[in-house]
Amino acid sequence: MQAFAYVHPENLKDALASLSPNWGETDVLAGGTDLLALMKDMIHTPKTVVSLKGVKELKGIKSSAAGLEIGSMTTVDELMSNAAVRAYPALMQAAAGIASPQIRNMGTVGGDLCQRPRCWYFRQGFGLLAQKDGKSLVENGENRYHAIFGSGPARFVSASSFAPALVALGAKVKIASAAGEREVAVADFFVAPTAEGQRENVLKPNEIVTAIVVPAAAGKKSATYEVRQKEALDWPLAAASVVLTMKGTAVAKAEIVMGHVGPAPVAAESAAAWLAGKTITAETAEAAGAEAVKAARPLNGNEYKVQLAKVAVKRALLTAAGIKV
Ligand SMILES: Cc1cc2nc3c(=O)[nH]c(=O)nc-3n(C[C@H](O)[C@H](O)[C@H](O)COP(=O)(O)OP(=O)(O)OC[C@H]3O[C@@H](n4cnc5c(N)ncnc54)[C@H](O)[C@@H]3O)c2cc1C
Repeated sequence: MQAFAYVHPENLKDALASLSPNWGETDVLAGGTDLLALMKDMIHTPKTVVSLKGVKELKGIKSSAAGLEIGSMTTVDELMSNAAVRAYPALMQAAAGIASPQIRNMGTVGGDLCQRPRCWYFRQGFGLLAQKDGKSLVENGENRYHAIFGSGPARFVSASSFAPALVALGAKVKIASAAGEREVAVADFFVAPTAEGQRENVLKPNEIVTAIVVPAAAGKKSATYEVRQKEALDWPLAAASVVLTMKGTAVAKAEIVMGHVGPAPVAAESAAAWLAGKTITAETAEAAGAEAVKAARPLNGNEYKVQLAKVAVKRALLTAAGIKV
């Protein structure tokens, strides 16, 4: 690991003042479960690490009739222990999938959204687009865990399990810099980079995610279903989060968002529109799953993920509707 200076501000203003406007010079440290690995592998080599651990403004969950405001330094474990979060099964189920108890104890919600992609080419230093001599290493290489949506050049998958649930719930990210604050829909926070040097989200180097604002879930049913290779220490192969607004037994409005299948969460808009007015049954959930993956364009080694994503959508819908999967 490269030597670095360490600053430990006690308030947000001081934390923001410590950040550089250029990537590579400073990194913020939340729980450190990803950042330290990135630094040990020399993928991140900041001159200064700015710890957020002492910044009180970023801690805690506020609950009101309008919904939740989750401080970015809330750990995954704290989120799961908060009674108000039980009204958001999609969020709870996404949190429960994050392995292990140690990661949930240290890892924060802000850190989960900002964790860097797991693409092994990126983690080996080939950059987010994983190119060598202008050619994609992913497209003709080891791509079994890569994206099945998107036309490139980004082929990594968004790593955050919270992201699809937050997009489906219509959540926003609060972002601060020394210049002021802004709010961005989680759906717009994640982006697919088109050139090396761009990032996988809209955060600037001198900005900090301060909180996540989730609208009230009253009258809505929600669920997250993840398909994993193993039940320990790994990310899902495919996942889906759904939020259903019901009118009697029929779906008035559906939100369906798939995770770990594209460089950003993938909203299955046509499947969601198709569900409107229908009752959730094994048949309609299966058909919505099939519709959700119609636009998938798998690589030569990851066609199997199309079926997994389809099943994730189907099972998330059934779970939200209270039907045993
Ligand atoms: C074995 C293992 C299994 C895992 N499985 C899953 C899984 O299934 N699903 C899943 O979603 N995640 C999974 N994770 C990832 C884990 O959830 C993240 O590592 C964790 O949430 C990151 O949070 P952190 O607070 O430790 O962030 P850090 O490691 O401190 O930071 C991560 C990155 O985000 C930046 N950052 C952190 N906080 C902020 C902020 N407030 N504003 C701006 N930038 C910020 C940092 O600079 C850094 O680049 C797994 C991790 C491990 C090690």
